[in-house]
This record gives sequence, structure tokens and C-alpha cells, in this order.
Amino acid sequence: KNNQGNYEVTLIPGDGIGPEISRSVKQIFAAAKVPIEWEEVDVTPIIKDGKTAIPDNAIESVRKNTVALKGPLATPIGKGHVSLNLTLRRTFNLYANVRPCRSIVGYKTPYENVDTVLIRENTEGEYSGIEHEVVDGVVQSIKLITKEASERVARYAFTYAQQVGRDRVTAVHKANIMKLADGLFLDVCKQVSKDFPNIKFNDILLDRACLHITQDPNIYADTVMVMPNLYGDILSDMCAGLIGGLGLTPSGNIGRDASIFEAVHGTAPDIAGQDKANPTALLLSGIMMLRHMRLYAEADNIERAVLTTIAEGKTLTGDLGGHSTNTQYTEAVIKKLSSA
Ligand code: NAD
Repeated sequence: KNNQGNYEVTLIPGDGIGPEISRSVKQIFAAAKVPIEWEEVDVTPIIKDGKTAIPDNAIESVRKNTVALKGPLATPIGKGHVSLNLTLRRTFNLYANVRPCRSIVGYKTPYENVDTVLIRENTEGEYSGIEHEVVDGVVQSIKLITKEASERVARYAFTYAQQVGRDRVTAVHKANIMKLADGLFLDVCKQVSKDFPNIKFNDILLDRACLHITQDPNIYADTVMVMPNLYGDILSDMCAGLIGGLGLTPSGNIGRDASIFEAVHGTAPDIAGQDKANPTALLLSGIMMLRHMRLYAEADNIERAVLTTIAEGKTLTGDLGGHSTNTQYTEAVIKKLSSA
């Protein structure tokens, strides 16, 4: 908190539609009188020692504030460029990726009442980057699972379940095949569960989880799923598909040194600068951020306004089948705030 009693939060507007949707979030948060002061930073990469890097002031801002809201970043294509998202993940040890997927009333998909929460281990597993060629035509790729990283993400999953009022944690794995690697992950989850007697624990094979979720996602409405990196990558997009795709899904990257909240979608270069972008996913990410900061009343107020605006269906952006601009949608949400 600063001396005006406001929380300072880093805002990374991002590229493409990033600045437009960030503006909309700022306007809605201001109208809802959220006690936040934004510190806006630019993360346009600079060249440092011949490599692309994030400007130091951006890193410093996130380090100081420990909470950030981030718009999408364009990933430079080609060799020698490290993805900025990956750099942020490494710099701040963002070890858990939280992806809630909840059906949005007014946006029809084949599934109703989806309400899943998935937590993905974000630092190791199949993404360890350790690969080599053994002999010509044979490569080895190492899936690294450590007790330390598994315990960190498991503990966060139980804590998150407590925070959001879910009474179960489900470990998703393939310990029947990867007996050592997934076996360790599962054992650690079981161990951690003993520290949370109020939360139930069970586990399920990844393939079985996919089958169940597509048959009836409601089976997972009371639990927090936790899993190794690659499984989480794939299963989280599958869950997003149940509620209508990536355009409406928020996410949180929880770290040791900071936490960064962001929409799951990209920079949408095809509609950038045309006032057509839907800011909902970034708004929902902002709402996750407020709950992370324990600003529950503000989060509830904004969430109600967003969801009723979409449910009424009068002021929707093009991606949801409407004809409104981002500006009109933002104004409609502001009118629905209880403090407005
Ligand atoms: P994208 O998500 O940007 O766009 C896919 C489609 O969805 C486009 O038609 C786009 O117009 C639409 N769309 C996305 N967000 C929307 C919104 N808020 N409102 C309305 N329509 C929306 O995916 P892409 O085209 O594959 O990627 C474009 C760029 O974004 C790439 O450089 C990619 O690397 C980057 N990207 C960044 C992140 C991130 O920073 N977290 C995530 C994904 C992609």
C-alpha cells in the first residue's frame, strides 16, 4: 500500500489489442473505486548482451509491487528471441498457473454450468528443456519432476481450494505409466493433503479425466485439479473449449517473488486499434487478481456487472456475436456497477 492507502499494482498493457483492453479495465476499476494505483510499464524488449531482454524498470516494478496485470505480448518469431512470457515466468519463479473456466450465462456453448479450476505446475516436467540426440535419429527428452516443485504447487492448490471454498483437490497424473515421475508427484500431493484436513483429496488418470470432463464437466465443479506441466497445458485449453474458447478465460501465474494475472488470448493483430476487442478475459483476470489481494467486495461488484452485461446480451462485442465496440461495452459494464 502507498501513503494514499492504495495498493500499487504493475500494469503491462502489452501489444496489439493490449492497450485497448487495459484501458477498459482501468476505467471499470476506477468506476468501481478499487483502491489500486497502476504503475504502467512498457516491456518492449531491449537488446542486452546480444539477447532480447525485458527492460529493467519493468522487472523492478513487478518485483516491488509483487502483483501485476498483464496484456498479451507478441512473441517474436525466429532464433535468438526468447519468449517474453517465458522470461517473466523464469524471472519471477511463476510456479503455478491457475485457470478457472466458468460458463458465462448469455454465451451459449454445448455445455452448461461448467465450473472447473485447474492448477498447472509451471516450471518443470516436460518443459524442462533438457533434450539431446543420443545417436542419429534417436533423441531423448527429459521430463523432470522434483519433490520441491511438486510440493510447492500442491500446497498452493490446497490453499487455493480453501480460499475459493472448494472442498476437494484432485491430482491428475499418469502414475500407472510414469511410475517414478508421476508417482513422485502423486505421493507429494498425498503428503501435502495431510496438512489440510478440511479438504478432501483424490486422484485420477489424465485420460480418464478427459473422458469425464467432456461427458459431464459438473463432476469437477467442487474440486481443484492439480497436475504436472504438459497435462495442465492441454487440459486447461480443453476446459476453455467447454465454455466457448480462449476469448473469455482468465489466468493467474502465481510465483515465489510475484504473481502476474493475464488473459489467455493473444494480441489479436487482426482487430487491433479498431475498438472491437472484448476486454472480458483481462477483466476476469483482474477480478482474480483482486481476490488474490483479498479485495473481495470490489471483485464481486465488478464480476456481477460484467456477467449481467453479457447475460443481457444487448451490448456485446463482435466475438460474442454482438455489434458493440469495446468502448460501448465498457460503458455498459460501468453502468451496472453498484457504486456507479
Ligand atoms: P489470438 O488470441 O491473438 O487471436 C486468435 C483469434 O481470436 C483472432 O481472430 C482474434 O481476433 C480473436 N481474439 C483474441 N482475443 C480477442 C479479444 N479479446 N476480443 C475479440 N477477439 C479476440 O491468437 P494468435 O493470433 O495466435 O496470436 C497473436 C499473437 O499473440 C502472437 O504473437 C502470439 O505469440 C501472441 N500470444 C500471446 C499470448 C500472451 O501474451 N499470453 C498468448 C497467446 C498468443
